[in-house]
Amino acid sequence: MAKKTKSKPVLSKAEGWNGFSLKPRKDMPEGLWMQCPGCEHMLYKSAVEKNMNVCPECNHHFRIEAAIRIKYLADEDSFQEILSEMTTDDPLNFKFRGTTYKQRIKSDEKKSGAREAMRIGKAFIKGRAVFLAVMEPNFLMGSMGFVVGEKFCTAVDKAIEEALPLVAVCCSGGARMHEGVVSLGQMAKTSAALAKLDEAGGLFISVLTDPTTGGVSASFAMLGDCLIAEPGALIGFAGPRTIAETIKVELPEGFQTSEFMLEHGFVDMIVHRRDLRSEIARLVDYCQK
Ligand SMILES: [Zn+2]
Repeated sequence: MAKKTKSKPVLSKAEGWNGFSLKPRKDMPEGLWMQCPGCEHMLYKSAVEKNMNVCPECNHHFRIEAAIRIKYLADEDSFQEILSEMTTDDPLNFKFRGTTYKQRIKSDEKKSGAREAMRIGKAFIKGRAVFLAVMEPNFLMGSMGFVVGEKFCTAVDKAIEEALPLVAVCCSGGARMHEGVVSLGQMAKTSAALAKLDEAGGLFISVLTDPTTGGVSASFAMLGDCLIAEPGALIGFAGPRTIAETIKVELPEGFQTSEFMLEHGFVDMIVHRRDLRSEIARLVDYCQK
């Protein structure tokens, strides 16, 4: 026989006194919340996405895939991609920790939906025609192998041919070790291409995002006529731990961040993601390109 009581409402495991469920939220869809690495707040993912993938609490700029970057940067449907099907070869039959280069390419293609670590094409930014080169961090960490080098040089050639400003968005772990010296050769190749653009009187705006490191930072990324960094991005050649262990000194606080780079004269400006379009358009106008 059920015991009746008026003084204390009996709570079922499923329902609290105010009617809210007390059940553990097992039904929460995966990926609805995310933790910000900047401030460690738990953030509602859609709120972050609406804020251009920037943390509303601390301004941390999350890493974004090339397709989203293009959406944020270019006028709607204006990006005309070229060489989208260009894929890499495996010149060294490379294998690392039991995974071949070919297997890694396949799995990253599946994971990212990208064919390579850079996308290039003509686009408009606030009505100004530009040639865009955007790196894809989800494909082998945005590393530069033969295809990235080739696409970047093609972007430079197109910018010269069509007298367009070149805008690159860098996001890279550096040269792609899987291609050995072929990958390192891209550093010289992309730098030489930019020398041609310079001779032709072209404009190159380089946007450095988190991270811009290794062979990419040591070649085209830092060769912009104007270097724009997103806030808080890691920008450098070797990582801080490698440097600290090699030269045996304690590194200063904020070492290799955009803010540190600006203070030491390595970048020209730090621009919030929401202002990038306006700032690039302003620079194009200012340089009369
Ligand atoms: Zn945050």
